[in-house]
Amino acid sequence: MVFEGLAEKLQNTLSKLKGKGKVSEKDVAEAMREVKLALLEADVNFKVVKDFINKVKERAVGSDVLESLTPGQQIIKIVNEELTALMGTTQSKLTFASKPPTIIMMVGLQGAGKTTTSGKLAKMLKKQGKRPLLVAGDIYRPAAIKQLQVVGGQVDVPVFTLGDQTSPVEIAKAALEHANKNGNDVMLVDTAGRLHIDEALMEELQNIKSAIKPHEILLVVDSMTGQDAVNVAQHFNDQLGVDGVILTKLDGDTRGGAALSVRAVTNKPIKFAALGEKLDDLEPFHPDRMASRILG
Ligand code: GDP
Repeated sequence: MVFEGLAEKLQNTLSKLKGKGKVSEKDVAEAMREVKLALLEADVNFKVVKDFINKVKERAVGSDVLESLTPGQQIIKIVNEELTALMGTTQSKLTFASKPPTIIMMVGLQGAGKTTTSGKLAKMLKKQGKRPLLVAGDIYRPAAIKQLQVVGGQVDVPVFTLGDQTSPVEIAKAALEHANKNGNDVMLVDTAGRLHIDEALMEELQNIKSAIKPHEILLVVDSMTGQDAVNVAQHFNDQLGVDGVILTKLDGDTRGGAALSVRAVTNKPIKFAALGEKLDDLEPFHPDRMASRILG
């Protein structure tokens, strides 16, 4: 899990406070210095860390906390609450169209996990009784269409493709017609990614957006890419507008700071977390559970 290093450090620091009958402002300052370092080391965005620490400190040095019978535990509770708030407080669900099909556009950099996650989401929706349609809108990456077809086959969800010679905008429009005709109530459009954001990619995504007016634009973000992932998220949000984020590769072993910064920086909810390569490895993102997992 990406937060292992961070979790260990935070738990160490906070356990020192836990046992104390009396906690001074100096103890709080010392603990917060350690928490700050741990977050920065995990590659959480600097400004996000600063705001987080200030909020915790402000609440923790209040006399009702320090003079309570269990100051250490109260402070740990505050850290837990602020960490939960940082990740969005409550679980944020998908928006379904009042008149189907619900159109979901999957966007993100190449390799972030769009194709895999589209399959995972299709599987999850199917389990909920929906009739999803996967749409192969990435015509540039060799084998992307084939990959989506394989994934579709594995989750038993149809895949709409017009090959790689038709423009993604036309594919998306034709897919919508197909979904209407065939009673697919959710349409998941896999789009192209690049290794870096470029204007042509953004323009194409904007054109698809205007053509099919998605109900959800979900940005797929690789949690293992640190600060970079947050910059990517911010750029996509500025240029395209996203409705939610899916964090992938939370099962990885790198620092995972992106996962903690992305909500604060974009102000967009993290809707799902992907924790592995298998098509079952997707779950709704619960900020409170994630905070408790990190704090032990
Ligand atoms: P795309 O280029 O954005 O469509 O990315 P892909 O869906 O092809 O995924 C890129 C790689 O990341 C593939 O090898 C996936 O198996 C892998 N991957 C995707 N999601 C996860 C995840 O949650 N955990 C792990 N460990 N690997 C993942």
